[in-house]
Amino acid sequence: MLDSSLAQEIAAIDGVELDSEVTFADLTTLHIGGKPRLAVRCRTTAAVVAVVKLLDDASLPLLIVGGGSNLVVADGDLDVVAVIIEADAVSVNFAESTITAEAGAQWDDVVAFSVESGLGGIECLSGIPGSAGATPVQNVGAYGTEVSDVLTQVQLYDRHSGEVSWVPASELELAYRYSNLKFTNRAVVLAITMQLLPDGLSAPLRYGELARRLAVSASEWQPRRPIRLVRDMVLELRRGKGMVVDAGDHDTWSAGSFFTNPIVDPAVATSVFEKVGEPTMPRYPAGEDKEKLSAAWLIERAGFAKGHPGPGAKAALSNKHTLALTNRGEASATDLLRLAQEIRAGVHDAFGVTLVPEPVWIGMSIDD
Ligand SMILES: Cc1cc2nc3c(=O)[nH]c(=O)nc-3n(C[C@H](O)[C@H](O)[C@H](O)COP(=O)(O)OP(=O)(O)OC[C@H]3O[C@@H](n4cnc5c(N)ncnc54)[C@H](O)[C@@H]3O)c2cc1C
Repeated sequence: MLDSSLAQEIAAIDGVELDSEVTFADLTTLHIGGKPRLAVRCRTTAAVVAVVKLLDDASLPLLIVGGGSNLVVADGDLDVVAVIIEADAVSVNFAESTITAEAGAQWDDVVAFSVESGLGGIECLSGIPGSAGATPVQNVGAYGTEVSDVLTQVQLYDRHSGEVSWVPASELELAYRYSNLKFTNRAVVLAITMQLLPDGLSAPLRYGELARRLAVSASEWQPRRPIRLVRDMVLELRRGKGMVVDAGDHDTWSAGSFFTNPIVDPAVATSVFEKVGEPTMPRYPAGEDKEKLSAAWLIERAGFAKGHPGPGAKAALSNKHTLALTNRGEASATDLLRLAQEIRAGVHDAFGVTLVPEPVWIGMSIDD
């Protein structure tokens, strides 16, 4: 717990509710993690600002929590206050084809709202769990689209200057699963605005599997499809891979893709290619003199099958997707950590490539 006068001061803020019972196992999609010193639920963005300011002034470590879908948290008591954002208003400006969402809005509700509003551009990001406010943090992406394609501005609370302002998305250095907000804790996203397409059609489809399922022909230039059709197909594809959260399905008790796709020198990509000898090995240009490999493919070729290490394990690879590390119901943080270390070491031994975890770790690290 906190010093009781500070806790009282926080509790007195409008739109705040203290929760001294909740654990990170309750707050995360991995269903793993111990107890924060205190959890503070904030129903308005003004409450978020006031709470973060008080905690920062008292030099108390805090963690902003949205949907907990990109968090790997240690067991036991954690020296951190969880600030849970629950401000979730979403509005549309039809004249400008923009949608603005408060940080605590569930991302998939925002996507559904955009589809109902006839605005295209984020349908390929359907089914990604978590909050709208977290989407810029690691520039979420799926099926050929990234939030950076549509994000115009974010409302930030700058924890150093204490100011709230709207900042152009271009200042976030958005790149593959990266922004300058990730791992820095320098600012809190209070709201986001996206520029969408008004004609009821999707953004051009760039992802092969999705395009094939939507009967796109190879000769079609910048193929687009009705947004509802694309959303439904993306959700279907994601469900097949265990990538839509479902409390009853342990294959979805994960943090999504556990490792990022490694970006390596071409010589490393060629050495992997020569070791495996598969002409269809996935490798893509990734900027100047770099190539992107598929982490899932590397894990499989290093000898880890879906479901590894098998029935009975508390933590295992998803039975539907090699890149998701899952809690089979009773896994501890250590069970998950050991599995992550085994996979990373196996890929390194096989190919000399070091996989980098995608989620944010709290209270432990893959190097422990
Ligand atoms: C089944 C599954 C599928 C997934 N599929 C994808 C996918 O296809 N593509 C993809 O990119 N990701 C995917 N993810 C990862 C995850 O859903 C995203 O990273 C998501 O944006 C995390 O949102 P969250 O609200 O749950 O963040 P949290 O897990 O609550 O937080 C993650 C990090 O962001 C910070 N943060 C959260 N909100 C804010 C805020 N408002 N301001 C500042 N910092 C903040 C937290 O402090 C923490 O450091 C998947 C996860 C799961 C479980």
